[in-house]
Amino acid sequence: MTKIEELSQTLANQIAAGEVVERPASVVKELVENAIDANSTQIDIYLEESGLKKIQVVDNGDGIEAEDVLNAFKRHATSKIHSRDDLFRIRSLGFRGEALPSIASVSEVTLETSTGEGDGSYLFLSGGAVKENKPHSLRKGTSITVENLFFNTPARLKYVKTLQTELANIGDIVNRLAMSHPNVAFRLMHDGNRMLVTAGNGDLKQTIAGIYGVATAKKMLPIKSEDLDFRLSGYISLPEVTRASRNYLSLIINGRYIKNYVLNKAIIEGYGSKLMVGRFPLVVLQIDMDPLLVDVNVHPTKQEVRLSKEKDLVVLIREAIKDVLSDQVLIPNASDSAPYRKRMAPEEKVEQLNFDFSTPKPTFQKNERTIPSDLAYDKESGDFYLKHSSIEEIKETNYESKPTVVPEVEIRETPSFQVEETTIEVVEPKDNMEDSVTQTEAFPDLEYFGQMHGTYLFAQNKEGLFIIDQHAAQERIKYEYFREKIGDVSTNLQELLVPIVLEYSADDLLRIKENQHVLEEVGIYLEDFGNNSLIVRAHPTWYISGQEESIIREMIDIFLETGKADVAKFREDTAIMMSCKRSIKANHYLDEKQARALLEDLKTCENPFNCPHGRPVLIRFTNNDMEKMFKRIQDPH
Ligand code: ADP
Ligand code: MG
Repeated sequence: MTKIEELSQTLANQIAAGEVVERPASVVKELVENAIDANSTQIDIYLEESGLKKIQVVDNGDGIEAEDVLNAFKRHATSKIHSRDDLFRIRSLGFRGEALPSIASVSEVTLETSTGEGDGSYLFLSGGAVKENKPHSLRKGTSITVENLFFNTPARLKYVKTLQTELANIGDIVNRLAMSHPNVAFRLMHDGNRMLVTAGNGDLKQTIAGIYGVATAKKMLPIKSEDLDFRLSGYISLPEVTRASRNYLSLIINGRYIKNYVLNKAIIEGYGSKLMVGRFPLVVLQIDMDPLLVDVNVHPTKQEVRLSKEKDLVVLIREAIKDVLSDQVLIPNASDSAPYRKRMAPEEKVEQLNFDFSTPKPTFQKNERTIPSDLAYDKESGDFYLKHSSIEEIKETNYESKPTVVPEVEIRETPSFQVEETTIEVVEPKDNMEDSVTQTEAFPDLEYFGQMHGTYLFAQNKEGLFIIDQHAAQERIKYEYFREKIGDVSTNLQELLVPIVLEYSADDLLRIKENQHVLEEVGIYLEDFGNNSLIVRAHPTWYISGQEESIIREMIDIFLETGKADVAKFREDTAIMMSCKRSIKANHYLDEKQARALLEDLKTCENPFNCPHGRPVLIRFTNNDMEKMFKRIQDPH
């Protein structure tokens, strides 16, 4: 046996460095966090060769006392927590006392610091060893310079990606730090070029503008919400402003940028079908809570945290986002290059900085759910009655002349689509219907006047011209219909001709049996069938014919993976699938009556502006746009 020996300080620090300072970006993060913890209001970061040659962070914070300067580089030495109790109430970004010794062990560090009283200090370390320590005069604040990173750990250098990637990582982390601290002015310079400047005046929207650009910031909406435990604030992009990755979702808990898959998911769910598939919004969400509710000590770089009451937070976030977006009217203007853009006055110019951030007023009022057009309201009796001659006509109408696109056979194959008496329940008005009758409607009143290429419907009102994509419109109508229908799982079971037998491993089977009631909530009724198998004999009628087994398996898989049956997600996905399958495609002539009926039905939708995949249902040419196009008025741009 080899002898067991205690590691030297330097070696221990180098090992810790593997976790804390993996790459230049992590060094920048640790140094900037220290500057923030020291109450700085101005933080300047200078990089050379993507930080590998040099990283210098200069702040105007509290500084370090001369007698503490050496302690700052000792492992587990910190000024931020003192007792076990402090560990559970962390308000600072750092607390582990690991960063400076780790960084110093793998580079050459120069520290210049002053508290503004007495002499300041100058300290130089190489590979963790102190080479120079002397008094030094300096204004209040701290400057830490890290040179030749990983010079003594060549293995680490190998993991460093291309200079471009490392620089992008640094940019990304500084962006998040800046968004987490809009009251701090940041400056990031690389080889003499300015990469980022923020004003530090406390205005988050201006900080966002500094990072994502003014035009993008203008398309972000404020969000605010709270419950007993959490307070949310920040900005979320209009559904039109999306990116291909989740990387633009920034979650900030008590001033700390964190990564959290579940909360990201809550954001996306809040957007629902307003987002195109595979696209993600830009969101900066600040979440404030009692530090007791968040454990930041679960990861060396503290980017992952453990939250108590995470489920409540998920609901709060999702609903807050839904609320903000439901207040928006999302008809894109034909003249805007970006789709779905909200209306802006033509004279409204996008300027560099110094801009007005007031949100343009929506053209229409809040989009409240109104009475479905199939129902009419009799004011005298207070009753609702069906306008269409038959219920069949309401949901099965494909708004097109015979022959229908969907062949008869297909309809028979999918009995779940056949509308039974229950349809009335789906459109049955809910509470407060009386209110919504009198309410101004969010969706504009449109006068239909023609169809083009069997694909687009033309309509007008006093505002201008509207073009409606008939497929997208019907997809939206059907989607909302199915979404409601799919919620209804308990009633209307249909017997399977051939029961489905499912096999599971012993442990999965145990979990399924223990939670059978959860699966029953989504309409899956299982019976024991011996030999590690279960049998299903019936299913809710809305299941797509031929896909019952895959639906059931998928639901059970989701349950096994997440421990719950995600009815909401399942409903959403299935509704999208069904609506698309059953909607009229392009190139189908609609007569005037059918076209008008389609527009009427569209109007009753909760969100008539986008199809379930997030594409626009209608676009508008305002009178103003038309006048500009025909040069009746001058374009001020
Ligand atoms: P932690 O931040 O976890 O306390 P660090 O190793 O990052 O550990 O820093 C050690 C200590 O050095 C901090 O607790 C703080 O007292 C001091 N320090 C580091 N950077 C600064 C700075 N920029 N301004 C003032 N004090 C600093
Ligand atoms: Mg620190």
